[in-house]
Amino acid sequence: MAKVNQLEYKILQMLKEDSRKSASKIAKELNISRATVAKIIHSLKEKGVKFTVDYYEEGELTAFIISDKCLENSECYKLINGEFLSLVKGDMKEIHKRLSDIKAEKFFLSIEKMNTEKIERSELYCDYCGNEIKGNPFLLKIGKKVYYTCCKTCQTQLKKKLQKE
Ligand SMILES: [Zn+2]
Repeated sequence: MAKVNQLEYKILQMLKEDSRKSASKIAKELNISRATVAKIIHSLKEKGVKFTVDYYEEGELTAFIISDKCLENSECYKLINGEFLSLVKGDMKEIHKRLSDIKAEKFFLSIEKMNTEKIERSELYCDYCGNEIKGNPFLLKIGKKVYYTCCKTCQTQLKKKLQKE
């Protein structure tokens, strides 16, 4: 089980909601720099946390290509119906190039390999009172920003406070 910190947790939640969300959007919403977001995403990967990210920024895709023969230089599986499933990794451009080499019956594109491992969260603090959030956070969305609070009361109070500003 991977331990993630407050900021990492928030970023993961955002990517869970929208895997296409760009680093610059995340940076804006969390009020941190784009470089920090990139650093955190990198550190999450180092920790072995799997998640999906905007593939135009990250580049790597996996294509599952079904055709009547194996695509050269690929991991290839023979299917029960006699067709072949080839796995090709690369960016969109590379995959298109490989696809043009073969008459594909069908293909699927994957952004990232997922795992279903549960993530253990640590140190998530309430954006209103500053106390550590033990259970599930109470989310507050104002405009494009997401706030994390510890309880219904803090959620309501923060909402009032922010609406005044
Ligand atoms: Zn609180």
